[in-house]
Amino acid sequence: MRLLILLVIVAILMWLLKRLFSGDPEPEQIESAQAENMRQCKYCGIHVPESSILLLKDEPYCCQEHADLDQ
Ligand SMILES: [Zn+2]
Repeated sequence: MRLLILLVIVAILMWLLKRLFSGDPEPEQIESAQAENMRQCKYCGIHVPESSILLLKDEPYCCQEHADLDQ
């Protein structure tokens, strides 16, 4: 009976070590998402990813409405 418990403990330890060295891919995905440059809307101050920012006369806006309101 003791041998069985020992085997189970060893199996759990091996599984934990395997997980530790294989690495979780999820943290990398979060890092790459945060790596995108954030720009602040000149009108309301909300932070928007650079890929979806609206530039008008070199000023960043979150949407067309705020760009129009600030002119
Ligand atoms: Zn805005």
